[in-house]
Amino acid sequence: MTTVDHLRQVRLGNLRTVLLALVDRPGSRADLAARTGLTKATLSNLTEPLLANGILLEEPAALTGMGRPSKPLRFHPDGPVAIGAEINVSHLAVETLGLDGETLQRHLVPTDIRKSTPDEVLDRVAELINQISGPRKHLGVGLAIPGVVHDGVVVRAPNLPKLVGAPLAEGLRRRLGLDVELDNEANVAALAHLWPHHLAGEDFVHVSADVGIGAGVVLNGEVYRGVSGFAGELGHVVIERDGVRCTCGSRGCVERYAGLDVILREAGRRRLDSLQKALDAGDPKALKAVRDAGEALGVGLATLMNLFDVPTVVLGGSYAVLHEHLSAAVQSEMDGRVLAGGERHTRLIASPLGEFAVARGAAGLVTRRAVHQPERLFA
Ligand SMILES: [Zn+2]
Repeated sequence: MTTVDHLRQVRLGNLRTVLLALVDRPGSRADLAARTGLTKATLSNLTEPLLANGILLEEPAALTGMGRPSKPLRFHPDGPVAIGAEINVSHLAVETLGLDGETLQRHLVPTDIRKSTPDEVLDRVAELINQISGPRKHLGVGLAIPGVVHDGVVVRAPNLPKLVGAPLAEGLRRRLGLDVELDNEANVAALAHLWPHHLAGEDFVHVSADVGIGAGVVLNGEVYRGVSGFAGELGHVVIERDGVRCTCGSRGCVERYAGLDVILREAGRRRLDSLQKALDAGDPKALKAVRDAGEALGVGLATLMNLFDVPTVVLGGSYAVLHEHLSAAVQSEMDGRVLAGGERHTRLIASPLGEFAVARGAAGLVTRRAVHQPERLFA
């Protein structure tokens, strides 16, 4: 490496440090210097191009007692944004996200896409994105799908077989003229609880359900993906060896007992909002459907907890909506089956992000990359 390359790397590393500090919270140059260990001169030097390019904003001076007035720096409210999009079996969702983690626009459309071709799906996603994208500079698009993803292509998606093999990232890139990163929905939903802010600690499992069940396992503040991206397939953990046949080819998988379509069918409801109303009204059939699903989910989760020994389970997506009626059954199965349970009660919490966790996490893929590779902000 030449000296010039080396200096450039050091500068990019320092920029990353400053940006990460600002993601945490705004601060004056003096405050940022104290938090990052950089000198005030270095900080001024680093923040100058960020201010000049409209990435940061310097607030008017605030008098803070003695000494010179401090001028806090924060991400510019008209600065660059990332777009996140979710393709799921029964809905599409999009969200725009600022570098500070603020949601700007979002939109969710219930729709059954199982019969749609890849081109039809991408046309609809592009249309939704165009509706919310707004005038700010776009850093790129994160696209999430319930399937195993490799190199911008879905290689396995038992619940969306028509999209397998289609170059989804490339197709959306062509439609929008923006970089597109494709990832698995369960992994990005977990990421949404890590970036830009930790919402469930450093070690947890995030589990959510549409037709399938997705789980993202987070260890030491990173989503654990496994060797080929198949890790966290909680939906296909077998809880009954000779049980119901599953779309994956196996039998007795958790999602055949705790997937959202199973819950709705058993409850005699067609949609989540109608199920929720039935639960609130104390409908016994609905309550039993959710309790049965909770028990099945708890058995599957206990296996995951015994393998990974994490302290927290986050119920996301439709499980977050149902958590009030679901949690007791899940907790009771886990308490009886998780070996560490005697030492430490597994914490079960509902996701605070609701039904937009996946779209937000997908956008987070892009903002996190931009902060970690700051040269992208100036491209
Ligand atoms: Zn299965």
